[in-house]
Amino acid sequence: MSGGKKLRIAIQKSGRLSEKSLETISSCGIDFSTDSRTLKCAAQNFPLEFLFVRDDDIPTYVYDGVADIGIVGRNELDESGYSLEVVRDLGFASCRLSIAVPEGFDYQGLSSLEGKRIATSYPRILSSILEERGVQASLVTVSGSVEITPAVGIADCICDLVSTGATLRMNGLKEVEAIYWTSAVMVARSDFSQDEERSAILSRLLMRMDTVNNARKKKYVLFNLPADRIEDAARIVGGMKSPTVTPLLDSAWVSVQSVVGEDRFWSVFEDLKAIGAEGILVMPIEKMSD
Ligand code: ATP
Ligand code: ZN
Repeated sequence: MSGGKKLRIAIQKSGRLSEKSLETISSCGIDFSTDSRTLKCAAQNFPLEFLFVRDDDIPTYVYDGVADIGIVGRNELDESGYSLEVVRDLGFASCRLSIAVPEGFDYQGLSSLEGKRIATSYPRILSSILEERGVQASLVTVSGSVEITPAVGIADCICDLVSTGATLRMNGLKEVEAIYWTSAVMVARSDFSQDEERSAILSRLLMRMDTVNNARKKKYVLFNLPADRIEDAARIVGGMKSPTVTPLLDSAWVSVQSVVGEDRFWSVFEDLKAIGAEGILVMPIEKMSD
């Protein structure tokens, strides 16, 4: 490791993104202490520094260079209007931005919102979608508790983030249309690569994240097989390279090891059983490079 520069990452201080954001970093073997979550802290074994802030501020901090990278919902990024580079989609904290209306509202599609008052915390995203669809409505921007606005009479309906819909139902609203999907993303300034030293740290971090992520999508499979079925087994497991085959004491049998994608796992398992595989062991993979 050369130089003394550190990469600074902005992470939500406390909220829906916090835990998974920190987990993303710690799964890369990066140690830090989170006991007293102050504004800043540094990792112990990697040139990384954390800045704990409100999620709404993360795009601004990254854009202004207060932080080099950040983990934030795509919704906050799009709402901020800053053009930052999305370096990875992290997949967690996924939810949708939906239109929800009071029970009695006759909703026939976005055109039913013509001339209505819509409360939202995402006026930029909503207005661009309404404009695309040629709907004119008046937006009431509120920063929280969007779901109570129809009941208190300041809006006719709302546009808010939904994951299960329970909060909406509790407030007498029904979700009628999802208009935008989001999940947590890692962002960097678009000209960030000019800072060679910090870019190199980011590349190391991304390489570790990808390695962990690759491993999560795969299973390590080990089984015994009648030696004369090895061609069939190779065809079933397929994948990166031919499976590793080890002879057993009983020469009619072999032991086979391979890596199988999680998505194909059950069909592979059933096909292997069908050709006489026995003692199938399936193990999680902790790390895996390409
Ligand atoms: P802060 O105090 O940092 O401003 P917040 O209240 O704005 O926090 P959270 O409620 O913690 O933010 O949500 C952070 C992000 O989590 C959202 O911007 C969104 O990307 C994501 N998210 C996932 N599921 C939901 C959900 N059901 N409702 C709202 N946001 C969700
Ligand atoms: Zn926020």
